[in-house]
Amino acid sequence: LDTQAVLDQIRDEVRPLLSRGRVADYIPALEAVPADRFGIAVATVEGATWASGDAREPFSIQSVSKLFTLTLALRDVGERLWRRVGREPSGNPFNSLVQLEYEHGIPRNPFINAGAHVVVDALMAHRPDPLAVLIEFVRALAGNPAIAYDERVAASERDTGFRNRALANFLKAEGNLRHAVDAVLDVYFHQCAIAMSCADLARAALFLANGGRAADGARVVSAGRAKRINALMQTCGTYDAAGDIAFRIGIPAKSGVGGGIVGVVPGRLAICAWSPGLDRAGNSLAGVRALELFTARTGLSVF
Ligand code: GLU
Repeated sequence: LDTQAVLDQIRDEVRPLLSRGRVADYIPALEAVPADRFGIAVATVEGATWASGDAREPFSIQSVSKLFTLTLALRDVGERLWRRVGREPSGNPFNSLVQLEYEHGIPRNPFINAGAHVVVDALMAHRPDPLAVLIEFVRALAGNPAIAYDERVAASERDTGFRNRALANFLKAEGNLRHAVDAVLDVYFHQCAIAMSCADLARAALFLANGGRAADGARVVSAGRAKRINALMQTCGTYDAAGDIAFRIGIPAKSGVGGGIVGVVPGRLAICAWSPGLDRAGNSLAGVRALELFTARTGLSVF
């Protein structure tokens, strides 16, 4: 299999889609990203990497970051985390308030916003400086010490984060946040504002394909925990489209409104595609198509 040729062909094939998605416009910093960008990168458990298109251009990873905070919180808190956050797909928008109310402040899963707030709160109980821990963790996973928070994006998130503030206040009222709402949200807004490239993200997610071991061989989580994080990605990782994504792509995936989508083929590889134009569910239009083409062309899938 000529992986480079597959990636180059996918890059050419998705080009007509680049003008058809809608770039996230809830903050100016995201709206300004050119819609014609497309990158794709693969990192294998054997240590090989491939990339095509704008695969080295950093973008706002947004909700893909929920993967990293969840991993850190599970390491610190362990299975007790599941007393405070569920493991079922929500079937509702990622920032829905309604479900949280009738389920008494226990978010459906760690990948919707309220779930991510609880994960941050759990992390804060064990880490005096969660932002430093998080960025160091991501840098080490990706093997790139230059990865950083985009403070401009973080500030915009904060200035427009009324719905996140509502969710966090509701969690607090229900007794499912221990720390101050603003302190939790500061971490959350920063995690969304991490800037990484496709190449960085493919390498950073490799531990999920590699039985819990990072690209450099270091143990990140146990094999069992990697399996569980993958299961959550498969069922809850792509907003309300997880069923359709499983059907079309057939591997666990986590997306963000910055247009990034990370996929994992257990035992084989991690892949990241990026294109800022989103579909109606909030997933990258060309990114989803790229992963769909990749699993179809290579025959790699969990099904
Ligand atoms: N940062 C945004 C929010 O929390 C979007 C995160 C995402 O879904 O990618 O509302």
